[in-house]
Amino acid sequence: MVNRDLLRISGTTKALAIFGHPVSHSLSPVIHNAAFSAAGLDYCYLALDVFPEDIAKAVDGVKAMHFAGFTLTAPHKQTVIPLLDELTPEAQAIGAVNTVVEKDGRWIGTNTDATGFRHQLQLAGMYRKGMKALMLGSGGAARAVLYILSQVASEVIIFNRTLSKAEQLMESLAPFQGNCKWSALPLEKATIGPHLEDASLLVNTTSVGMHPDEASCPLPEGLALRSSCGVADLIYSPPKTRLIQMAEAAGAKAASGFDMLLYQGVDAFTFWTGVEPDFEAMKAALQKARS
Ligand code: NAP
Repeated sequence: MVNRDLLRISGTTKALAIFGHPVSHSLSPVIHNAAFSAAGLDYCYLALDVFPEDIAKAVDGVKAMHFAGFTLTAPHKQTVIPLLDELTPEAQAIGAVNTVVEKDGRWIGTNTDATGFRHQLQLAGMYRKGMKALMLGSGGAARAVLYILSQVASEVIIFNRTLSKAEQLMESLAPFQGNCKWSALPLEKATIGPHLEDASLLVNTTSVGMHPDEASCPLPEGLALRSSCGVADLIYSPPKTRLIQMAEAAGAKAASGFDMLLYQGVDAFTFWTGVEPDFEAMKAALQKARS
């Protein structure tokens, strides 16, 4: 079958790509190529498998080939930073970059995971000033989540299997804590249980429950959710994790990582092109790819 999008690639097409390892699961090419096509913009976006030790060579390559920019997924979001000329305040604060644009010969990095997560909460009616929020996990994505939660919550408690990593996360984001109270506890039934009584939000930033491990749940066995505690899961595959199913069964608000994925892409598109993408085209392409 002829791929119609390939037919529009020409000698003037601007190149963009996502670097990751692995990267074949990425839905970013689907979202971005749909948006470029809908906007009639002459760009083409690829997924490129870049080994961790090759990130500097890959960045040198896109500079030499005059790409318009690139995006990054695990494991490159932090190691790319010394290779760039400038960071936006968000990227600087979070200490991770997922989107890079070339402007006047300078390579500028930003973090649209953070704005994507804020959209996820806002769309689900879970972005509430003064709330008490619980986070499960403290890996790469947790950095953007803690940054955004600290702007709206009065208290954030981070639960992680490896407690020292949660403590390191708090230490590295300390300048952006503002008036929000932070603490870290081991991810266990006895430590989480009491806090589920009065929390307004539970965010899963762990990879537990992600395809193909769909039967797993990051919340320890034997804990119940309340209808007053909304649940946001960063995982977007499967569309409804076990945690999201538990939240819905408890009558709580629930949001999967779909909106975060979509909006981090929307914000990346705008960062590159200076124009808003056709949101419905991106959403439809993502839904089709996921089904
Ligand atoms: P990461 O850096 O590898 O961090 C993984 C986290 O999960 C760590 O806190 C780790 O705990 C915890 N964890 C892993 N296995 C566990 C287990 N068996 N029991 C308890 N905790 C466990 O990964 P990441 O980049 O932050 O990504 C996390 C998830 O977010 C992934 O599913 C990813 O797809 C999703 N994500 C979604 C979006 C979106 O746009 N929706 C964006 C970014 C990420 P330890 O510290 O103890 O190892």
